[in-house]
Amino acid sequence: MMRSTRFAPLILCLILCSQQAIAEPPAGISPDPLRYVSPSRPYTTTHTAVDLDVDVVKQTVAGHVVHTVRALRDGVDEISFNCVELTLDSILVDGKRAEFDYPVMSDLSTSWLAAAGEASADDRVVIHLSVPLARGANTKIAIHYRGAPKIGLYWIQPEKGLPDKRHEVWSQGEGEDNRRWIPCNDYPNEKATFEGRFRVPKGYFAMSNGALVEKKEKGDRTEFYYKLDQPQVSYLIMLAVAKYKVYETKWRDVPVQYVVPPNTDDATILRGYGKTVDMMEYFSKRIGIDYPYARYAQIVVQDYIYGGMENTTATVMNIRTLYDERDALTHTEVNLVAHELAHQWWGDMLTCREWSHMWLNEGFATYYAYLYKEHDEGVDSFRYKMHEVHNDVIAQDKKDTRPMVVDFFNRKDAANNANVYVKGASFLHMLRYLLGDALYHETIRQYGERYKFNVVETQDLMRVVKDVTGENLDWFFEQWVFLAGHPEFKVSKSFDRKTGVLQVSVEQTQKTGGIIPVFRVPVDIDIAWEGGQATHRVTVEQAKQDFYFQAPKEPTMVLFDKDDWILKTLDFSKTAKESIHDLEHASYLARIHAAEALAAKGKDRDVVPALRAVLEADGHFGLRRECALALGKIGNDEALDALAAGLSTKDALVRLACAEAMGNFYRNEDAASALEKAINNDRAYGVRAEALTSMGKIKTANAAKVCTAALDKQDSDRETVRQAAINALVELKETAAMDRIKKYAMPGTRRELRHVAMAGYAKLGHDLAKDGDRRRASDVIATMVDDWHLRTRRAAIDALVTIGDPSAIPTLQRMASNDPLADLRERARTGADQVTAMTAELKTNTNQAVTIEELKRRVNTLEQDAEKARRDAATAKQE
Ligand SMILES: [Zn+2]
Repeated sequence: MMRSTRFAPLILCLILCSQQAIAEPPAGISPDPLRYVSPSRPYTTTHTAVDLDVDVVKQTVAGHVVHTVRALRDGVDEISFNCVELTLDSILVDGKRAEFDYPVMSDLSTSWLAAAGEASADDRVVIHLSVPLARGANTKIAIHYRGAPKIGLYWIQPEKGLPDKRHEVWSQGEGEDNRRWIPCNDYPNEKATFEGRFRVPKGYFAMSNGALVEKKEKGDRTEFYYKLDQPQVSYLIMLAVAKYKVYETKWRDVPVQYVVPPNTDDATILRGYGKTVDMMEYFSKRIGIDYPYARYAQIVVQDYIYGGMENTTATVMNIRTLYDERDALTHTEVNLVAHELAHQWWGDMLTCREWSHMWLNEGFATYYAYLYKEHDEGVDSFRYKMHEVHNDVIAQDKKDTRPMVVDFFNRKDAANNANVYVKGASFLHMLRYLLGDALYHETIRQYGERYKFNVVETQDLMRVVKDVTGENLDWFFEQWVFLAGHPEFKVSKSFDRKTGVLQVSVEQTQKTGGIIPVFRVPVDIDIAWEGGQATHRVTVEQAKQDFYFQAPKEPTMVLFDKDDWILKTLDFSKTAKESIHDLEHASYLARIHAAEALAAKGKDRDVVPALRAVLEADGHFGLRRECALALGKIGNDEALDALAAGLSTKDALVRLACAEAMGNFYRNEDAASALEKAINNDRAYGVRAEALTSMGKIKTANAAKVCTAALDKQDSDRETVRQAAINALVELKETAAMDRIKKYAMPGTRRELRHVAMAGYAKLGHDLAKDGDRRRASDVIATMVDDWHLRTRRAAIDALVTIGDPSAIPTLQRMASNDPLADLRERARTGADQVTAMTAELKTNTNQAVTIEELKRRVNTLEQDAEKARRDAATAKQE
């Protein structure tokens, strides 16, 4: 799956479990953890057949599911499935009516949903078998049911003010929500083949997993029959129903479909999805296993809650994958398309058996999407991406140092697992460095082949590495997967001219102990001198270590991990002259490191011209971007000139970087006028938006006027410009713009913009001086807490808390007990507490203010008394 906002805490991020490396809860992880593992069961499901009538207007489903199960033990007399808030009409075992209990509360100690206070999420149906099953015996269990689920299935209706809005239903199974519309064993610990029959209103299209075997009319209904011959885990079962346009193409002889809203033109479809077929070919060859299914469809649904979801053969996608030509100058979703497709191998064909090993899904999909980038855009683009990935992991580690696989968690921890995506990718990148390309790819191919259509844990990959390479890399897995953190290197060098020996001293400065080790890191040190160069691979494995190299002349360049293979921070102190030399002559990522280092060396007069020269040269935008950002940090007039000139360069991404860098020029009128031009004239919406963001930061006298005009007048695809204008007005504390912003916070606005407007309106509302005004702002938001869309409800909770008016407390308390989502109930509960605390604090302050008034009064009285006494005394003297 891919989230729509990077690192935003979401519902289903689960972090958990390795028993080998860690016996105690790591520091920073809750001391009262619940172990979460999939429960034991006496059977395995081998086939699941769903047959449902789907009413998209009434928002109901009715029908049955038949599970074929095989007993794993002798004497199995009970079978249970997860099943939440459905009405069960009857259950047949091999065609005969069976007794069942429902709902039965589970042993809650296994459930993270239960940890959030939602006991019903783990409800089960327990079916009593009249004849116990012997080990290996198969039986068919048919459950007839109906329901109106609000989670797992998400129903979209037409909305006033949004003419394109149409009836639709789509499912989101991951993590454990398919149990809310199909009774099933809803954990990723087993795989079953699948078929689905769905009857929908005539004119509607139903999408599900596998091949569309049959489509037939039945009165006023159309029945779609799908069949998937390869087994999958239950969370990958999917359904989407609406009116669509279907664009068909082929990879080899496999049908490929792009299923989009009816009015989408072909150019837009191909802008978003046109590379899919090339990706299928690339992944098939790169992984060494052909795309394993009979069809691949991507379906764009309305108001999707994530970026994309890799349901087997039928990926659900966010509408942001459809964008216009001007948006495409700075925006692309090629990476999302590649990520979800890579999941068809890593996540679908092989699936993590326990959620705690989710990096085997997400880390792999993330890394393979970047490998496609290397194929599609070249090695610089790929390396720059990996540089960003390392920075993301480092930022994540700073907030919360945790292993990728941990044994302990609580519900709140679960919301913070971004490192299974990016750290997983970093890990594979380092494994590739360690093994070399050929051996790495062969290892991964064999891992894929061995566990094809099966479920996996990290230990399975460890074993394949040993089998294929002969290397025992347990230490490597232990430090990067089961322990936490990353090395922080401090490197220095000195050269002895007499002996020709270069000394490179390497120190690991991270605070070690507990879950953070001293790392063992093979790494390349590159040395260049006039007329020659050499690469040495050394292994750093101590806290402090010196390395010695012979060089024929004094080195002109010494680089530590020049291609940035290793996840690390690096403090390699160099002079401005040396960094400029690196910037001009080193390899791509070493040049980027040099640009970053030069940001702190702006006082040297050669630095700005050197950065400007690279900024203006042609080449990959990443390096040019880093030069722009360094110039922004230097922040002098000469740097501003370079950036202002950069705003008219051809590459929109470079213009965007220049606009971003100009946000450092606080109250600078020249910067403001250059940004204003970009806001009104740049062809790329993304550049306009970035210029607005910077306008909010530099806070010149005209900034609010410029941002208000952009909010009023500038339409853009996906409303990028308006979103940036609102955020800038918030940054400027422009409370006068609240009414304008409110317009976009109301129903009838596209959700991306609406949520930004709600947050902006709330932040400004918090700043209002008068209680009455704050209460009115709070009332506006309070009308939105019953929206069907979970993200809108979440935005409303957050906005009410931001404003902090006590009138919101009853509303938040009501949500805390009534919202259908445990996650949001928890958020509302915490929110109500926060507002209560803020109100109490305010009162205390007010009380203190009274006390101060009182003290002042007393002091006055005392002073008057003293004055009177002095006067009296003086009078007495006179007397
Ligand atoms: Zn994913």
